[in-house]
Amino acid sequence: MNTIDTLKHFKLRNTKIRVAVLEALTESSGAVSYGSLQRMLSQFDRTTLYRTLLVFNEKGLIHKAYEENGDSYYARCFGCSVSAHSHEHLHLKCSTCGGVECVEISDQLKSSLAKLPFQEINISAKGACSTCVRF
Ligand SMILES: [Zn+2]
Ligand SMILES: [Zn+2]
Ligand SMILES: [Zn+2]
Repeated sequence: MNTIDTLKHFKLRNTKIRVAVLEALTESSGAVSYGSLQRMLSQFDRTTLYRTLLVFNEKGLIHKAYEENGDSYYARCFGCSVSAHSHEHLHLKCSTCGGVECVEISDQLKSSLAKLPFQEINISAKGACSTCVRF
């Protein structure tokens, strides 16, 4: 699904900034920090950028993956809906390149987490991301 269709699917009007933010997050292999989104999309107003991220998060298009030193990292969701985010994966902060990656967890871990009365699970880990681990 292309960006315009995705926005339509999530019942969002397509505006220049929505298309740009969604494209930036879809094309990235990992999560993108708010700081770098601001740099990448400097032609847009900061408040509009922030609101766009809030709306996308609410609609199940993106999720907050990581937070550090007041900077938040956002990643694209796949398979989430307006009513709920459904992902139990962990967020790996790479100590080499500083990137943040969504990493799938095993089914065993998933089912043990499912037994716990959490509303939302946010697991983060530090290490080398899939790009850096190859070197
Ligand atoms: Zn999600
Ligand atoms: Zn890395
Ligand atoms: Zn994630």
